[in-house]
This record gives sequence, C-alpha cells and structure tokens, in this order.
Amino acid sequence: MTNKRYGHFIDGQWAEPAGGEYFPSIDPSTGQPIADVARGNAEDVDRAVRAARRALRSWRRVEPSERGRFLQRVAGRLLAEMEDLARLESRDTGFPLKDCLSTVKNVAARRFEYYSGLADKLMGETIPVPGNHLDYTIREPLGVVGQIIPWNSPLWEGSRCIAPALAAGNTIVLKPAEEAMLTMLRLAEIMVEEGLPPGVFNVVTGYGPEAGAALADHSGINGLSFTGSVEVGAQVMKRAADHVIPAILELGGKSANIVFPDADLEAAVTWAMIAIFAGSGQICVAGSRLLLHRQIHDVFLEKLVERTERLRVGPALDDPDMGPLISEAHLKRVLNYIQIGRDEGATVVTGGRRLTDGRLAAGYFVAPTIFDKVTHHMRIAQEEIFGPVLSIITFEEEDEAIEIANATPYGLAAAVWTNRLRTAHYMARRLEVGSVYINRYFPSGIEAPAGGVKRSGFGRVDGIEVLRHYTQLKNVVINLDEMTT
Ligand code: NAD
Repeated sequence: MTNKRYGHFIDGQWAEPAGGEYFPSIDPSTGQPIADVARGNAEDVDRAVRAARRALRSWRRVEPSERGRFLQRVAGRLLAEMEDLARLESRDTGFPLKDCLSTVKNVAARRFEYYSGLADKLMGETIPVPGNHLDYTIREPLGVVGQIIPWNSPLWEGSRCIAPALAAGNTIVLKPAEEAMLTMLRLAEIMVEEGLPPGVFNVVTGYGPEAGAALADHSGINGLSFTGSVEVGAQVMKRAADHVIPAILELGGKSANIVFPDADLEAAVTWAMIAIFAGSGQICVAGSRLLLHRQIHDVFLEKLVERTERLRVGPALDDPDMGPLISEAHLKRVLNYIQIGRDEGATVVTGGRRLTDGRLAAGYFVAPTIFDKVTHHMRIAQEEIFGPVLSIITFEEEDEAIEIANATPYGLAAAVWTNRLRTAHYMARRLEVGSVYINRYFPSGIEAPAGGVKRSGFGRVDGIEVLRHYTQLKNVVINLDEMTT
C-alpha cells in the first residue's frame, strides 16, 4: 500500500511543491514512513506569503464578532474530530494517544474557543492629552505573520500561535517541523471547510534550512513567531532584525523541580515523574532537573525509581505511559547525553539504555532514565537533552536551591513543592523563569501567560497577553478646535 501524499496548503487548496519533491514523514514508533509530504522551498513560501497578503485585505475587515464565530466553529470541529486528529498526531509524533486526545480537547479546541470570545474585545483607549483634542488608540493586526513550530505536538504548539493571530485579524503562513506535519495540514483543511477565506491560513511543509529560513527571510512578512531551539531561534531573530519586524521566541528549557521536606511527598513523586517522562521528556517545560532536599533524598529516590520502573513504554497508539523519541537522530542525541552523564561521574539509578525488546526494536525508544549524584555544573544539568533523562541534584537551604535552579542559561519554568506559604512566595520571586508552578507541574491552563526569560526566549503566549504580540497600536489625535460641527 502506498502512503498518502500531501502537498502544501496554500490559498485554500492543496498545492504541488514548486521543486516537485516530497519527503517521508516517519512514524517514530515503527520507524516506517506514514506519508509523503511536500518539500517546500523559497518559491513555495513566496506563493503562500502572496496568498496571505491578498487575503489580509478582506480578513482584517471582517467584523471581529464574525472572526470569533469562525474560531468557535473550528473549536467545534476539533472536538467533533477529536479521535481522528488525536490518532494522526499520536502516530506522527509518537506521543501516547491519551495525551493527544487531551491536547485536542483541553488545549487546541479550548484555545480556539477562548480566542473566539476575545476577537471582538481588542479595544483601544482614550488618552487625556493637553488642549482640545480627542486622542485614542486602535489595536490593529500586524498583517501577515510567519509561524515556525517544532514537532513536539503540532496541535499543541500550532493552536497557541494560530488561534490568537487569527482572532486579531492577521493572516498566517505556518511552517511545521519536518518531523511532524500532518495535523497542521488537516487543520488547514478543516478551517477552509468551516468557511475561512482562502489564503488566511497557509501551511508550507519542508526542511528548516530551506522552507523555514525562506519564511523567516521573506520581506512580505510583518511579524514572526518561532518555537524551537535556541540556536535556530537566534538565526530567526537575525532575519527579523534584517526586516525590522517583531518576533516572539519560545525556546528551550532546563527546568528545575524543587522539593522541600515539608511537601506532600506522594504528590511530588507522582509529578516529578510526569514532569520528565510525559512526552518522553520532549516538552519545553519538562522538569529535567529534580532538586531534592538532602533530608528526603533517599526516601524520595526510592519511591521515584520504583514508580518509574513500572511505567509502560510502547508504541504511541497502544496508549503507553511513554512513547518513543521523535527520530533516529534524536535517539542518538539522547543516548549520547546519557553517555556524557556517565562520563561526568553521575550515577544511573534506572534506565540509561535504548529499548529494543520485540516491537520496540524498530522504533526510537529509550528507557526512562534517572541520574543521581548530579552536580549543577555537569553538562547533563546544564544542557537541554529533550528526552526522558532526569538529573537529581541535592540541596540543603532555600538560597542554595535558588542558586542551583538559576544556574543555567535557560529560564522557562520551575516548580516548588512545599506547604509553607513563606517558602513558596520566597522561591517564586527569586526563580529566574517565566512560569513558576507551586505544588503542581505544568501550566494550569491556556488562560495563563507562558514564556521564557534568559535564553528561553521572550514574549508571552496564551492568555490575553499573546494578543499584544499579534496586534500593534495606532494612535489617533483629532484637533477638535478645527472641527466646524
Ligand atoms: P528546531 O529549532 O530544530 O526546529 C524548530 C522549527 O524551526 C522547525 O519547524 C524547523 O524546521 C525550523 N527550522 C530549523 N532550522 C531553521 C532555519 N535555519 N530557519 C528557520 N526555521 C528553521 O527545534 P526542534 O528540535 O523541532 O524542537 C525542539 C526545541 O523546541 C527544544 O529546544 C524545545 O525546548 C523547544 N520548544 C520550546 C517551546 C516553548 O514554548 N518555549 C515549546 C516547544 C518546544
């Protein structure tokens, strides 16, 4: 049986790649291709940007309430097609099916619903200026926005950029990662079926240095949103600077999960495990550093290892606790970091190897891995591994925990487990991150702003805050003295 072949989605329809080339999308659970996808180049990107520019003329003038109703309809379709979308995303990314179902329902559909309600609430202000003037502001869309997203859950990362940008009246050219593209292409189809005018949302697939770089460098783009690695984010930022356009960067992390002895230890063990092994650690805010107070280290570690060894690892559609890594190249990268950790003198207390039993042999599976006796200057404590590899570091004082937590170039998120209010607030203020979770892990919902500081990037996504990024402010002043009526 031959695999389905996908073109780009440009101007409301499927489009053949200008270069005529396709490349396979691989199922990381099996190592087998599941589809052939268009290999985009600068010509394809140009076609998409032109379509988005044409569409902008009318889309920005659509009544905001009408844009909101459109987003609401998309939310409904995502819920109606939840099973199919989740299966497609699960197969394409290797994320367990139940996680993908939750992403469609609680994240992607919810974002379209949330921003549907905000489309007609993007208001300006009146400003008290000297003299007999009326001075007011209007919040306008940026124009055509380029969005480049990573492969770790395109529906998660994509909906975060697409829903607010459309609500604010922008048109979009989106470049998904070459490892996972299929749900973004399906979303583009759904949007047109739900009445989105052609050209408002376009998807160009392809490799980063080709299609991605062409998008970042296109002079017809008015704003960029990039989610991915620090290295590529810096390159995208340079392109934005060349064209003097705003950019939002959502980059990597090395988040600290800090546990004090007074915390609910059962809950902290459960969440320490979910924080690093959900999505096989391929989540930007993964709790990849576990900072344990010395007093609880031994008992905590024992429980954590015992629970971790019970995790079921398997093909994504079997709905395991943990699926594969995204690609063979990434598998090698993660295994290399495990070797680095050993060489640096940290101790593997569980995992530390590729899993190749039975059906797992064909996919890219790594055992959930815990390193103990890590010190914060080691590479496994400093660099983003983006895999199921946890580094445990011990501490004794609050300030020591803060110093260790802040001692990486990243600043995405941190968690604190304590039942002392004073400790919680003290830590929250001093941690150099964009998000702090107290007695939980991961964001509470799409209503709250998220983003990084330091090399984790800048700009905030989710909540109302992201709409500032997708709009620009115009000031209007009227000299009322010159009015005759
Ligand atoms: P990546 O930087 O390799 O790729 C991200 C995207 O950039 C892909 O679409 C890729 O095709 C594109 N790209 C690659 N080279 C490019 C170039 N020269 N010009 C333009 N685009 C280019 O990242 P990845 O490996 O796909 O994703 C993992 C990274 O993403 C991790 O660092 C992770 O922490 C980060 N991430 C951050 C967040 C966040 O919200 N902060 C969320 C998810 C992932």
